[in-house]
Amino acid sequence: MTSNKEDYLKVIYEGGGLERPVPNKEIAQALGVAPASVSEMLTKLNQQGLIVYGSYKGSRLTEAGLASCMDVVRSHELWEVFLIRHLGYTWREAHEDAHLLEHVASSRMIDRLDNFLKHPQTCPHGSLIPQNGRIPESEGFNRLSDLSAGETAMICRVLEDGTLLDYLERRGLKIHETIQLLSIDDYEGPVSFILEGRTINISFKAATQIFVKRLSGPAKEDYDGS
Ligand SMILES: [Zn+2]
Ligand SMILES: [Zn+2]
Repeated sequence: MTSNKEDYLKVIYEGGGLERPVPNKEIAQALGVAPASVSEMLTKLNQQGLIVYGSYKGSRLTEAGLASCMDVVRSHELWEVFLIRHLGYTWREAHEDAHLLEHVASSRMIDRLDNFLKHPQTCPHGSLIPQNGRIPESEGFNRLSDLSAGETAMICRVLEDGTLLDYLERRGLKIHETIQLLSIDDYEGPVSFILEGRTINISFKAATQIFVKRLSGPAKEDYDGS
């Protein structure tokens, strides 16, 4: 498979394409190309059974599509872990530069990198890292915007869009931390919640791009997130 096709599949995967159709606009933005030029490739991937594509709805990844981008997804995510842990990268920087590294590394190098990093389960943005060519089973997540006031939840994953990553990291959002929702204003207004004793306010739109696991009990203090 050419790296270009893999790029499309990976962008759809990272955009949440297993859970929802990813709009053309987002795919174009993530790839840095004009929206008009993505539809041709998406039609091709649709014909090959790698995605389910509707020009107004967007693209969902099929099982076959997921399988054929696993190696590059794994490479991308392990590089992200490395860049953040060892080179002091931000969320956004790691996502951007992992794009440069993901295609050039051999599978031997990626296996050694995985060993060196002690087999992380998720990338820094919370996406599960494939093991043996498969994405591990995950429990279904809710969107942060689906929570009600007073509920506690663990932040599990954020969509990998550069602007969103900067926005959330600046506000101190952390993966695998517990939050308590304070309020969601009417008419899709701002969302506020408590994280590590601080109140954080984000836009409703951002809250729809954060995936959480509802917790019934009180906040867990000892979760190490790795
Ligand atoms: Zn990424
Ligand atoms: Zn990531």
